[in-house]
Amino acid sequence: MGSRYGAKIRKREQAVLKRQRALYECPKCGKKKVRRRGYAKWECRACGAEFAGGAYSPETTVGSAARKILSAIAPPK
Ligand SMILES: [Zn+2]
Repeated sequence: MGSRYGAKIRKREQAVLKRQRALYECPKCGKKKVRRRGYAKWECRACGAEFAGGAYSPETTVGSAARKILSAIAPPK
């Protein structure tokens, strides 16, 4: 039982590491050059923009930026 639990944890850690190493799209310049710099800290290697995001992926920041742009484009009802 103990070994099964350990294998499960290791699998989840691998998934987290994969997300941490991946490059993400920059909400500022749109290039896929955003890398994790520290806990919830992200930096774009293309334009140098620094921003805070999720601990393991900047999805929080990118998502809110996209929502902001969408609401700006959407015509008022
Ligand atoms: Zn950028």
